[in-house]
Amino acid sequence: MTANFDVIVVGGGVAGLSACLMLSRCALKVLCIDSGKPCNSSVNHTHTFLTQEGSSASAIRDISRNQIEQYKKVEFYSGTVDDIEKLSPNQFKLRVNGNNYFITSQIVIASGVTDLLEESKIANLDKFWGHSVSSFAFSDGYDYKDKRAALINSLPGCVSEIAPLTSYFSKELTVMTNGGFDKNESDLSITNECEKNGVDVIHKEIKSLNGQGRKLKEVEFTDGSKFELDVIYYYPPFKVNGEEYLKKLGVEFCPELNLIKTDSMQKTNVPGICAAGDACTIIRSIPGSVAQGSFAGAVSAKTLFVEMWNK
Ligand SMILES: Cc1cc2nc3c(=O)[nH]c(=O)nc-3n(C[C@H](O)[C@H](O)[C@H](O)COP(=O)(O)OP(=O)(O)OC[C@H]3O[C@@H](n4cnc5c(N)ncnc54)[C@H](O)[C@@H]3O)c2cc1C
Repeated sequence: MTANFDVIVVGGGVAGLSACLMLSRCALKVLCIDSGKPCNSSVNHTHTFLTQEGSSASAIRDISRNQIEQYKKVEFYSGTVDDIEKLSPNQFKLRVNGNNYFITSQIVIASGVTDLLEESKIANLDKFWGHSVSSFAFSDGYDYKDKRAALINSLPGCVSEIAPLTSYFSKELTVMTNGGFDKNESDLSITNECEKNGVDVIHKEIKSLNGQGRKLKEVEFTDGSKFELDVIYYYPPFKVNGEEYLKKLGVEFCPELNLIKTDSMQKTNVPGICAAGDACTIIRSIPGSVAQGSFAGAVSAKTLFVEMWNK
């Protein structure tokens, strides 16, 4: 199967849907290819997105998709893009689920990231993820203002960037280095920073998280000791979905974060490819992804309009 489209949007999360909505109003022939695994699938209540405060992540996507489906030039296809090939300066071929091919001149990459929870080696982390284990202090911190919280030092710069927020959003914050304390300059500065702010640091390795249902009760360390708390802030390592074929295509990634590099117009370094949402930003949020998706859609459409004008 091969079909041609003006724009193909890879990913049907909020960033991709927002691009589709903009493109639907441009009356272009659009295909949104989505594998149906958004990063926030476990979340029953999302926060900070205007008009949708408290709505589930799936409700936001369902409403958006229903509204977009009123525009008949936008089509949805369930599947995973597994390769993108550049046929000519303004023509790409996308391979989906092994043997379906789609041709387009503009692509919006909105396929997000995969959070690599298993890399933490902390048992039960996935069970509490999106509930009492959070990466989103601005969305979730409000609900834990009077509770005991821990911040796991999982990424470089995590404590200096995140401890000020999580400390504000909790009655008592503890930093956990999860056995990764090295007594090097950067680790010692974490301890000093915490000490200065009255925050305890625990260096023990975490074995598992225990609790009831999705509600966290305690952290269990490998030495058998336990620590009671209500919420954990944890920033897992992640991987941009489609990283391999995007890099093969020549799409540039930021070296420090391994996210797609875009300019202020959401364009990547490859002409004809824009990116939006979690795949290109470390500050992950629904409103931010929606804004970027909308912009990426408009920029892709404008590129086509200019080409038509100059023909
Ligand atoms: C647990 C959790 C809670 C959160 N809570 C909030 C909150 O309360 N408020 C807030 O503002 N933000 C919240 N966020 C952040 C927010 O959900 C994300 O920033 C936002 O969903 C990113 O949108 P996206 O479209 O870029 O990616 P996603 O929503 O992850 O969507 C990407 C889509 O692309 C698809 N895809 C991936 N690879 C391919 C491929 N190769 N081919 C085709 N399709 C593909 C996926 O299946 C998925 O459907 C939360 C995130 C998490 C993980």
